[in-house]
Amino acid sequence: MKQFQISFNSSEDSIKSLCELKKLVSSEDEKKMLLQVFSASMDRTSVQAVIDNIKMEFPVAAYVGCSTCGNIFRGDLSPDDYVVTCTVLEADSARVAAKQFRLDKDNVDIVIPEVVKFANDNEWVKMIMLYTTVWKSSMTSLCSELDNLRPDIKILGGGAFNSALDIDSSFVFSKDGEVAGHSIVFAFLGGDGLVINTRYISGWKPLGREMSITKAEGNVLQEIDGVKAFETYRKYLQIENDDNFMFNTIEFPYMIRSNGIEILRHPQACLKDGSLVMASDVESAGKIRLAYGDPETIMESVFHNLCEIRDEDPDAIMIFSCAGRKAFWGNLRIGDETKEFECIAPSAGFYTLSEFLRTDEHMNQHNLTLVVASVKEIIPGRERKKKDVQFSFVQDGRKLSTIERLANFIDKATRQLEKANLQLSDMNQRLQDMAITDGLTMLYNRSEIQGRITTSTRLNSEDVLSLIMLDIDDFKKVNDTYGHAEGDLVIKGISEVIRTKTASVSYASAGRWGGEEFMVMLPHKSEDEAFIIAESIREAFEEKEFELSGHHTVSVGVTERKGDEDGDTLVSRVDKALYDAKKKGKNRTVRL
Ligand code: GH3
Ligand code: MG
Ligand code: MG
Repeated sequence: MKQFQISFNSSEDSIKSLCELKKLVSSEDEKKMLLQVFSASMDRTSVQAVIDNIKMEFPVAAYVGCSTCGNIFRGDLSPDDYVVTCTVLEADSARVAAKQFRLDKDNVDIVIPEVVKFANDNEWVKMIMLYTTVWKSSMTSLCSELDNLRPDIKILGGGAFNSALDIDSSFVFSKDGEVAGHSIVFAFLGGDGLVINTRYISGWKPLGREMSITKAEGNVLQEIDGVKAFETYRKYLQIENDDNFMFNTIEFPYMIRSNGIEILRHPQACLKDGSLVMASDVESAGKIRLAYGDPETIMESVFHNLCEIRDEDPDAIMIFSCAGRKAFWGNLRIGDETKEFECIAPSAGFYTLSEFLRTDEHMNQHNLTLVVASVKEIIPGRERKKKDVQFSFVQDGRKLSTIERLANFIDKATRQLEKANLQLSDMNQRLQDMAITDGLTMLYNRSEIQGRITTSTRLNSEDVLSLIMLDIDDFKKVNDTYGHAEGDLVIKGISEVIRTKTASVSYASAGRWGGEEFMVMLPHKSEDEAFIIAESIREAFEEKEFELSGHHTVSVGVTERKGDEDGDTLVSRVDKALYDAKKKGKNRTVRL
C-alpha cells in the first residue's frame, strides 16, 4: 500500500498538484486507488472545479470528499484549502469502492441497511470510511444501524463541517454523486493482507464524583442529580451561559459511559431553562461525570497512542480530529498533537463535527476526540522494511502536570468524602433505629408504640383501629425460681411469638410496653380480627417450651376504638381488659 498527499489552495493550483501526483502512480494503480479530498473551502464552484480536474487526471480512481473545518496534511494543520490523499492498494485481491446517498434523520433506516447489506455481502470489504453531514439532533440512529455490519469490518469517519461552523453549509461528494448537503459518502477498502487498527484518543480525564442523569430526552440533557444540568457548570466551574459557554465547556466536557466505553460529550448549547443540548443522545438514569482537558495530560495520552501505532508499523494513518480540539489548542498548537504521526507513516485527515468509530462492534459518535486508523497491506513474498522511528516529542514518564495532580487530589478527596458520607448516613440510620427500638426484644420501645397510637388516633379520626395488650402470667416466679437470665429468655420468647404472628399483618406495630408487658397496634383491624390474632399469640406462646423453665402463659386484653376516641382512652380500656383477663384466671383473652 502506498499513500501520497498533495495540498493546494485553489482549483487553479490543483491542476499542477494533480499532475505531480499522477507521475507517482501508474494507470494500473487507478483501479485500486482511493482519493480522499478534504475541502476547507466552502466555495462549491471551486470545489466542483477541483473535482473536474480530479476526474480529468484520474478518470478511473474512486474518490470521496467533504467540507472540513481544517485539513491535516503530513500530520499537521494545513494552511491550504484543499488536501488530497491518494491511497493505492497493491494486493491482487485489493478493491476500492465509493458510494453516496442523500441522508437525513428520516431516511436513515432505509439508506444505512442498504450500505450494510452491500458491505456484508461483499466479503472483500474490510474497512469503511464515512463522511457525513450532521443534523442538529442526535445521530444515534445512524450509529445503531451501522452496528449491523459484519463484526470484522472496521468503520470510522467524521462529520463534514466548515470554517463558518455552520452545520447547514456542510457538504460531501464522491465519484458516486454530486457535491451535496444532507448526504453521506462511504469509501470501502478491502482485499487480502489489509490490516487495519483503529483507536480513539481523547486525553480528557474524569474530574470529581460520578453523577446520575435524572432527566433526559433524546439529546437534551435536562437534569443531573435532580438539578438542572447547566448548574453543574455554574456551581462547580463558575461557567456562565454567555458567549464563551461553548469554548469554556470544551475544557470541561462531560464524560459518559456508552456501549461500555467512556465517551466525551460536549454540550452544543444551553437552553433558557438550564437544559443542555448535546451532540448525541444521553440515556436517562445513566452515569455522567465532568472531565477536564489539560494540555500536558492530553499530549501524554496522544504520545502513548503514538508509540502503540508505531509498533503497528502502518503504511498510512487516517485521522479524524474534532473541530473542538482545534478550538481547544488554537490553530498554532493543534498540529503538535498529530505532527509526529507523520514520522511513522503518511498521515492526513480533517477536523470534523463528531468523530465516528466502531469499538467492540458498536458504532459510537464521539466528541473532542481523535479517531485514528493505522492501515497497512501485507503483500505475500514482499518483505517489509522495519522503520526506525524517532519522535522529537520528549516524554517524562513519571512527571505529572500540576493540573493532573490537583485533579487526582480532588478525585481521592471526593471518594473519601463519599465513603465518610455513606458511613455517616448508615450510622445515622442505626441511631434512629436504636432510638425507637427496645434493646432486649428488638420490638418498638414504649415511647415509639405510644407515639404511634397517639398519631394514628389523631390523624385518622374515623378509621378502625384495635389494640392488643399482653402480660406474662406469674412472671415474678420465673425470675425468682430460675433467675433473671431465664426471665429475659422468656421475655424474648413472647416477643418472638408476637413478631411472627404480626409479621404478615399490614400496618401492625408491636412494642414492649414495660417489663413483661407488650402492646400491639392494629390499624384497619376490627376487634374480631384483633381477637383472632391475640388468641393465636396466646396459644402459640403456651405451646412454646423453654429448656429450663418449661411452659408459660400470657394474659391478653383486646379492644377496638369507638368513634374518635383518643389514644389514652383506648390504652386504658385495653389495660382494663388485660386486668380482667388476669382476674378471670389468666391465660386467656378478654375483649372490652
Ligand atoms: P401477673 O401474673 O399478675 O402478671 O404476675 P407477675 O408475677 O407477672 O407480676 P408482674 O407482672 O407485676 O411482674 C413483673 C416482673 O417482671 C417484675 C420484674 O422484676 C420483672 N421484670 C421487669 N422487667 C424485667 C426484665 O427486663 N427482665 C426480667 N428478667 N425481669 C423483668
Ligand atoms: Mg405479669
Ligand atoms: Mg406485669
